[in-house]
Amino acid sequence: MASITKNEPVCSRPLEELVRERAPLTALQRYLIERGHARHTVYAYLDRAAHFCHWAERTKLDLSRFDEKVIARFCDDHVAHCNCGWPTHTDPREASAALGHLLLVLRVLGVVRPSAERGTPVEEELHRFDEHLDQVRGLASSSRQTILRIVRELLWGRFHGRPVVISAITPEYLRRLVAKLTERYHGPASVGSVISALRGYFRFRATTGDSVGGLLSVLSYPANWQHASLPKTLTDEEIERLLTSLNWPGPSMRRSAAIVRCAVDLGLRSGEIAALQLDDIDWREGTVTLRRTKGRREQVLPLPDATGRTIAAYLQHERPKTAHRGIFVRRKTPRDEPIKADLVRKTIRQAYQRAGLPYTRSHLLRHTMARRLLDGGSSLKEVADVLRHRSLNTTLIYAKLDGRSLSSVALPWPAALPPQPPQPPPPIALPWPERLP
Ligand SMILES: [Zn+2]
Repeated sequence: MASITKNEPVCSRPLEELVRERAPLTALQRYLIERGHARHTVYAYLDRAAHFCHWAERTKLDLSRFDEKVIARFCDDHVAHCNCGWPTHTDPREASAALGHLLLVLRVLGVVRPSAERGTPVEEELHRFDEHLDQVRGLASSSRQTILRIVRELLWGRFHGRPVVISAITPEYLRRLVAKLTERYHGPASVGSVISALRGYFRFRATTGDSVGGLLSVLSYPANWQHASLPKTLTDEEIERLLTSLNWPGPSMRRSAAIVRCAVDLGLRSGEIAALQLDDIDWREGTVTLRRTKGRREQVLPLPDATGRTIAAYLQHERPKTAHRGIFVRRKTPRDEPIKADLVRKTIRQAYQRAGLPYTRSHLLRHTMARRLLDGGSSLKEVADVLRHRSLNTTLIYAKLDGRSLSSVALPWPAALPPQPPQPPPPIALPWPERLP
């Protein structure tokens, strides 16, 4: 609110006089324009505020006592049953939002007493949001406190003592804030509460006319933010060491090599590797079909030459005779059984050890594949296809490895949101191609 200062001459005059001269409305208009509200919102708010001034004058309200309770009285009791001849507007929330801004402006001008515990624009804003949580969403005090703590981080970190301007909050700032908060609040449930608190706040702002679609899309999918830190990946040099170490002499060397190559070259999950069947590989076409993927859809992937040859070597030279159609079968008791995902993970863990790498998690190889694809110039969409993510959101964790693609991913997301009721939208299931080109 740069151009409204406490010591403007306007303050020393009685409020009633100012109201008659529309000075508060002029100040409100300037304030709303500075906040970057859309033109129609500014007009709507000015109309609501003018209605309030008109009502205040008619009812000979003691305007020095103008506060949140007066706003509630006007919105709840008067607006719905207006008999003062003001052109109809029946949405008390819009009136409430408009008068919240008016009250803030008048407090900054010094014509209305500041409330005791508030004062800074951020605290004012939090107070208004708290009333919304209380009156519109009906939340208990403890829930409101949690939400306000998180939103205070957002607003205080960005604005300190300055007025809150939603358009000054960038998606990048929000992303960093979420990453910071999720490091502090451990566990997906807490991450979810950070996201839902911030979403709730932006939805509240949307009801007052702010454009928040871009910010909401950053906050759309809590599950992704479990991965607040960069996904760990192996360097090219480490991958090289891992692949070289596959030529070790040992009883299950070919099986180990084939398993590791499936993880490195195809980015397969442990369970998917364990579930591979002889009939899933089309040697002539050079493809592998995944039938039991996490997303329960059939997917056909190209089978790279090196991967195919390693699998073929295992099948020809090492795989025990068995009636099973599973590619990878157990060598020890219980023999003649297809392997399970835990044996895949153990195999990869041992491969790390042999290569002298300090890793244990098989999933790192999936992350690594994503990183190599991005390094090679693939888009996040292509990475999503290859890793068979049902939703691009899951792939978004890799965006942290690849800042350039982030905006192009974020853009097609829904920018609009239903203003009410404030509930999280269902996850968006994008129609991915069933098969790779
Ligand atoms: Zn009226």
